[in-house]
Amino acid sequence: MTIPKSKHTLQSALAISEWIVDLRRDLHANPELAYGEVRTSRRIQEVLTELGIAHKTGFAGGTGIVATLGSEQGPCVALRADMDALPIQEQSGSDFSSLKPGVMHACGHDTHMAMLLGAARILKQDESSLPGQVKLVFQPAEEGGAGAKKMCDEGVLEDPKVQRMFGMHVWPQLPTGVVGLREGAFLASATFFDILVHGTGGHAAMPNLVVDPVVAGAQIVNSLQSIVSRERDPFGSDVVSISAFNAGDAYNVIPATAHLKGTVRSLSLEDQAANIQRIEEIAKAIGQAHRCRVEVNFPGTTYPPTVNDDKALAVARAAARIVVGEAGLVVNSPTMGGEDFSFYAQKVPSAFAALGIGNEAKGSTHSLHHPEFRVDEDALPIGAAMHAAFAMEALAELNLAKP
Ligand SMILES: [Zn+2]
Ligand SMILES: [Zn+2]
Repeated sequence: MTIPKSKHTLQSALAISEWIVDLRRDLHANPELAYGEVRTSRRIQEVLTELGIAHKTGFAGGTGIVATLGSEQGPCVALRADMDALPIQEQSGSDFSSLKPGVMHACGHDTHMAMLLGAARILKQDESSLPGQVKLVFQPAEEGGAGAKKMCDEGVLEDPKVQRMFGMHVWPQLPTGVVGLREGAFLASATFFDILVHGTGGHAAMPNLVVDPVVAGAQIVNSLQSIVSRERDPFGSDVVSISAFNAGDAYNVIPATAHLKGTVRSLSLEDQAANIQRIEEIAKAIGQAHRCRVEVNFPGTTYPPTVNDDKALAVARAAARIVVGEAGLVVNSPTMGGEDFSFYAQKVPSAFAALGIGNEAKGSTHSLHHPEFRVDEDALPIGAAMHAAFAMEALAELNLAKP
């Protein structure tokens, strides 16, 4: 039984922190949207090649990468980073701001890639002592594109079979030096919906001659709020939000259609299925009551809730204690944000951690997806050390559990 070296991961990460920060800044300045992470993928491949780490690419539409380290003899664990940016015009004021108008790494996925490459470098230094294999999964399209599902469908969790998996997200609500973990559901199931209300439209002064989709749409907005307040368990967690209502553009014309968009979230997959069903039933019934025809569509893929497995969570806690100490480990609140890491967690015992990046002095206080979003880069070596420690602790646990 090899003794894990995770005690030293923070020192190892601090020694290469400038390298991690430079990588992050390069990725930050060159953001790419979901499934278009071509330069990003190439850059990661270059770094893996420089480090002498074997990797395969072409996954999930082309940009996904799986790298492998360690020994094929033992168990296999996986670490994940997401690669895509968001359609946001950056206003962070950083020296290394996005060079691409209207595209920004506002969810910190640039830092996720840089931290995982940092972990790769640390693990490579100690490769001969790894009691098993580590897969590094770089996936495209976390932001609504369900890139993780494609990676799973293309077999990245097989051959060799991944037995534990870990992911991490930068978290502005926690201060730098803190890692948040929680039991059970951490992030919500997320589904988008479109509601098209078809009336007839006509002169706004003669409503008796038209079928008005605006009034029907307004009733639908209000009625959908009763799903969470009247039908779900008050101790559960569900959200139904209408985020867009587009209909007409004149003072004196009733439009023929109204288009509503929204998102529905739940910490339970069963409740999410019920929410989806009721959105469709209520929207159609309200439409009928107002003589309108209603179409309801759920574009994209529903993300399941991200649920932490107890065994993987114990490993993640052990890793956090080593890297940030007992004082740096907190119980994180669940969030109604979605995460496609959930697709891996459905198949492999997994844990997902929140990495504190909040620091008022450095201006890293804005929420994820904000145009002024900034990251306290002091958190990057901590994140790299966490990833390396996840792998070492999980391999140690799996070796100990062997009969
Ligand atoms: Zn995001
Ligand atoms: Zn994200």
